[in-house]
Amino acid sequence: MEYSFSKSSEALSSSVVREILKLTQGNSILSLAGGLPAADSFPVAEMREAFNRAFEQGSTSLQYGLTDGYLPLRQWIVKRMAQKQIQVSVDNMLVTTGSQQAVDLLTRVYLDKDDVVLVENPTYLAAIQLFQFRGVRVIPVDGDDEGMDLDDLANKIAKYRPKMVYVIPTFANPTAKVWSMERRLGLLRQCREHNILILEDDPYGEIQFDGEPPYRSLFSLDEHPHNSCVVYTSTFSKIVAPGLRTGWALGDERVIQMMVKAKQAVDLQSSTIDQVALYQLLSQFDLDSHIEKIRESYKERMEWMHELMTRQQWEGITWQKPRGGMFLWVTLPEHIISAELLKVAVAKGVAFVPGEAFYASDTKTNTLRLNYTLLNREDTELAISRLGSAIEEYSKVVVP
Ligand code: PMP
Repeated sequence: MEYSFSKSSEALSSSVVREILKLTQGNSILSLAGGLPAADSFPVAEMREAFNRAFEQGSTSLQYGLTDGYLPLRQWIVKRMAQKQIQVSVDNMLVTTGSQQAVDLLTRVYLDKDDVVLVENPTYLAAIQLFQFRGVRVIPVDGDDEGMDLDDLANKIAKYRPKMVYVIPTFANPTAKVWSMERRLGLLRQCREHNILILEDDPYGEIQFDGEPPYRSLFSLDEHPHNSCVVYTSTFSKIVAPGLRTGWALGDERVIQMMVKAKQAVDLQSSTIDQVALYQLLSQFDLDSHIEKIRESYKERMEWMHELMTRQQWEGITWQKPRGGMFLWVTLPEHIISAELLKVAVAKGVAFVPGEAFYASDTKTNTLRLNYTLLNREDTELAISRLGSAIEEYSKVVVP
């Protein structure tokens, strides 16, 4: 058979992270590459009981359900969102197969081939992949520690007439950046003025370490839910378990209803049994104290990695201590190409994600992303020491 794939599939590149994960499977390589939560953070026993209760409900848990999602779960999310200054009804919400699907569905219903989406630079690589797969032009906007540069945003809006801006304003992947209030309001103002939709991706908002009050979502700061210029998505992946593949999207009913129609075509609905079990878990579980434990554990892991890296006394290598999220973003001296460094590192038994995967363009090859949530204390120590010896070896070969 001669297979003849679609034109758009030519834009499909396999995720660098997934390739690295493959490399690290079943051998002694310690992975700082994936965005995996700590396995001991999963509420396994409670989830088993929740599934039992779901089965006690009989066959309904195994039946087809609504495309929008299991109603009690949606009602639970509505209440949860109200604690975050987000007032929505179930009509403003869609349960998705992870927040990844929310990004996909909105792209399908809102963007045509050659439309422009503005993104942070760097940003979440699977979003870049998805936009490119759909033939959407991805244009990066300059930024700093506070968020997108509002002048560059204005320039890019004038130059490219984007239909959408995709952002992760709180504990971004890969940079762990938190946008200042000024930048949040500035983005909203410009997008409103030019009728541009914002996709706010918020998988990490709950994973906060810095003791500050929770950072306000763009969606909560905008007029909402009716007429909002923001579509908000979040997920149970980081606060319960990613294997449930359950997330949600919020927005004006007109946008949500379009996404529901697209979801009908894509997968009819997300798994009924998983949604029923998740609802059973949430209705008998203290999610807030569970999240508190995750925060403490991840903060400790982050502090430990930061300390180990500081002890290495690397010259010219910088990073900012994350205030939340799951990643530490590192800038190397310019002569170090992190994709090359990765080869040395893998030979030494440690993996990370080279930063170049996260840039739509204007790629900085001397950056890398480290995950601190997966490994335990001992393995993190070993991993950073292996990374240290990889950097040392690489630096001997490549002279600045
Ligand atoms: N957005 C961002 C920024 C992410 O980091 C991730 C997970 N890696 C996702 C979306 C997708 O998460 P999920 O589909 O598991 O909800």
